Amino acid sequence: MSSGKRVCVIGGGTSGLAGMVQLINEGIEVVCFEKEARVGGIFNWGEDKNGVYDSVILTISSMLMAFSDFPSDDAKYWTHEEYLTYLQDYCKKYELDKHIVFNTTVTKVELRADKKTWLVEATSTDGTKHSGVYDSVGA
Ligand SMILES: Cc1cc2nc3c(=O)[nH]c(=O)nc-3n(C[C@H](O)[C@H](O)[C@H](O)COP(=O)(O)OP(=O)(O)OC[C@H]3O[C@@H](n4cnc5c(N)ncnc54)[C@H](O)[C@@H]3O)c2cc1C
Repeated sequence: MSSGKRVCVIGGGTSGLAGMVQLINEGIEVVCFEKEARVGGIFNWGEDKNGVYDSVILTISSMLMAFSDFPSDDAKYWTHEEYLTYLQDYCKKYELDKHIVFNTTVTKVELRADKKTWLVEATSTDGTKHSGVYDSVGA
């Protein structure tokens, strides 16, 4: 059931993805802006060359890295590529992509005069401007 609330999530990294699922489960409308072309955040290594390096292996085992609502059958230390695949599978399970605006950077977050809602502005790489009002913003 819809709560009538609307939340903006900045970034489709580990935190943003897990947060989105919790919000959706609460019936909250979610819009996520992700500046890169795909999810994964720091583990989105590839074309975007984010902050990991080629030989990175996670320091926490897959049993603890996996979200409790999407446990893994693996019992190993994932490579960054395996973890990225896991996060992409998590998105598929919860159909998160339909809530994410990719290639779009949030440029402004401002508390509005009502002191209750937030104005969020973002710009896509193709020049499209986004402006919306949200009950809450998370990053
Ligand atoms: C080499 C290395 C190894 C690591 N190993 C582990 C590990 O084994 N276990 C572990 O738990 N943690 C590990 N970490 C820590 C890891 O960084 C965090 O667990 C995790 O990435 C945090 O997720 P996050 O979503 O908060 O941030 P990030 O992964 O940084 O995601 C942030 C997202 O926000 C997007 N974004 C940023 N600014 C904007 C904007 N203005 N508008 C739109 N989008 C924006 C980015 O593109 C990105 O997708 C490691 C980190 C590094 C660098």
